[in-house]
Amino acid sequence: LSEKLSAAFKRLKQKGKLDEKDVKTAMREVRLALLEADVNYKVTKQFVSAVTERAVGAAVFESLTPAQQVIKIVHEELINLMGSEVSRLQIPSKGQCVIMMCGLQGSGKTTHSGKLAKLLKGQGHRPLLVACDVYRPAAIKQLQVVGEQAGVPVFEMGQIDPVEIAKKALAHARDYGNDIVILDTAGRLHIDEQLMGELENIKSAVDPSEILLVIDAMTGQDAVNVAQSFNDLLEITGVVLTKLDGDTRGGAALSVKAVTGKPIKFSGTGEKLDDLEPFYPDRMASRILGMGDVLTFIEKAQEQFDEKQQQKMEEKLRQNKFDLQDMLEQLEQINKMGSMQQIMGMMPGGMGAQMKDADIDERQIDRTRAIILSMTPQERAKPKLINPARKRRIAAGSGTKVEDVNRLLKQFEQMSKLIRQFTRPGKRRRRFMPF
Ligand code: GDP
Ligand code: MG
Repeated sequence: LSEKLSAAFKRLKQKGKLDEKDVKTAMREVRLALLEADVNYKVTKQFVSAVTERAVGAAVFESLTPAQQVIKIVHEELINLMGSEVSRLQIPSKGQCVIMMCGLQGSGKTTHSGKLAKLLKGQGHRPLLVACDVYRPAAIKQLQVVGEQAGVPVFEMGQIDPVEIAKKALAHARDYGNDIVILDTAGRLHIDEQLMGELENIKSAVDPSEILLVIDAMTGQDAVNVAQSFNDLLEITGVVLTKLDGDTRGGAALSVKAVTGKPIKFSGTGEKLDDLEPFYPDRMASRILGMGDVLTFIEKAQEQFDEKQQQKMEEKLRQNKFDLQDMLEQLEQINKMGSMQQIMGMMPGGMGAQMKDADIDERQIDRTRAIILSMTPQERAKPKLINPARKRRIAAGSGTKVEDVNRLLKQFEQMSKLIRQFTRPGKRRRRFMPF
């Protein structure tokens, strides 16, 4: 898809000005590219007309080439299509939270029940996994294995009525202090009445806070029909899009939100329990666009870096007041810009490769954010306060180890040094990217 789209944009690039005919031609190719990527045809149609309308009506910015302008609009509309914000789980502050996982067989329900359980446990919850897939004995066993890996208890009653199991599981959770109950339900190869009836019964028996539909991103066009049927019957609350690590074409991500109106909350990016990420519509949009050149990188960077905040930051740097809170804000900015790998890919050849060698690990960034988030504002402002007892508390709060906290503090120290060198007064200051 990315290649097709770049080709369409390349042709635009040679033009000096943007007129309706150019836009129409480019959009014809965008339309084909989307359809080929299994994006639902209705969604494609709406998308193309939204972009065309905006592109033709757009004031011509002198700083942007026509191609850049169209790319910008396509990018923004792609984000709109997937929901412009990152959606979180709805966890009631009081009482039991029931999360019901549903979807077709093999979509990744069991795996993602485990991933969610692990994630929530890391956040201080006490989840309970429940085996409601009773049709294959192997399914119960699989959940038990997953539960063991996640360090989360698994409730099972063998192959009896799953509605009964779900009810008993809730009572069990109350007795054992489990605040979150994750139901791993059965799937079929195709949607059928029996499956749907069973899910409806479970739903009305336990009143879930979240009904997450698990969709295999590789199923393409079919994902839309699945999403629609499940949503019609169950009123899902969100989607988990799995197998995004594979060679997926992205079509499902684009269509699902548009068709159901329900957000994609998580993406699954591998078979391991840690391969779970919040779904970032902007990152997905960039991935689909496959923006691979420096120009776009600059443009994006300009769009996303809040100028004022940047100035504030630079002021702080000059006065040597850069603290951990600022480091956190920088990390959030980077998050907004898209994945590191992707940013590296946009750097001019040598530099990108060099920085890749430096082994930039996005998970490391997430871990860093978690650690800083577990600190008090005072600690962020004055890292010197952080003594061994505080380190232990921070490590526990962020689900990391004391040595991770130490590493972060050391990094921060190095970074402050580096930044001081970059921001010597007198020189024209550059936007800095410390990572
Ligand atoms: P279920 O039938 O819906 O419970 O699906 P499972 O959780 O058993 O997953 C089916 C298969 O897909 C298993 O082999 C998983 O390891 C694999 N799988 C699940 N999620 C992902 C993912 O995000 N990425 C990859 N590569 N494989 C996944
Ligand atoms: Mg399963």
